[in-house]
Amino acid sequence: MSIAENIDQIKSILPEQVKLVAVSKTKAKELILEAYRHGQRAFGENKVQEMSLKYEGLPKDIEWHFIGHLQSNKIKYIAPFVHLIHGVDSFKLLKAIDMEARKAGRVIPVLFQFHIAEEETKFGLSIDEATDLLNSEEFKLLKNIQVRGVMGMATYTEDEHQIRKEFACLKSWFDLLKRSYFAEKPEFKEISMGMSGDYPIALEEGSTMVRIGSNIFGERNYLKN
Ligand SMILES: *Cc1c(COP(=O)(O)O)cnc(C)c1O
Repeated sequence: MSIAENIDQIKSILPEQVKLVAVSKTKAKELILEAYRHGQRAFGENKVQEMSLKYEGLPKDIEWHFIGHLQSNKIKYIAPFVHLIHGVDSFKLLKAIDMEARKAGRVIPVLFQFHIAEEETKFGLSIDEATDLLNSEEFKLLKNIQVRGVMGMATYTEDEHQIRKEFACLKSWFDLLKRSYFAEKPEFKEISMGMSGDYPIALEEGSTMVRIGSNIFGERNYLKN
């Protein structure tokens, strides 16, 4: 199937209010353009240099979503144009984003990434870390970031029950934060969860944004890239 057909197929099961972020990491600009010509505007990348190069060489109305682990010293390269940073997993990183956003004269939208998977290697905050952060005086001083919601990755497993439990956990933390800290903030509304292998479950558990790569562009070949 073509990229356009893949997008259509995914969109046919996405509720209208759910956003599709096409994860284009490792994929060539020509493939991104193919999706673009079919109307896709939101693309996800997980490497700063790769995203910057693609930004330079592609239409400027593309929304670039940074979905990887971001290092503080590299924020400056994407601060002028990034649409949403999904993976904020420490206060230190949040403060660094705020500083670079100020230098770029912007307010940068971010999501708090939570650790919901069993695997040790997945990055993310715990709910205690998030509430400590939100309760701190220092947080209130950050004027150049806007928290739009939460993001999480489920365990890579065939066990559907496990995946569902982890997504439900992320949804419950979103609800808790919404109630306790963001009740008056309509922009705090995003739950970024669901990838090629698990997005139907994520949708059932309340996802508002799915990040899908291989189901659109085909398998990634890391050896070649
Ligand atoms: C690569 C990646 C995706 C997309 O993965 P697929 O399985 O190809 O859909 C989604 N989210 C994050 C954070 C990723 O790194």
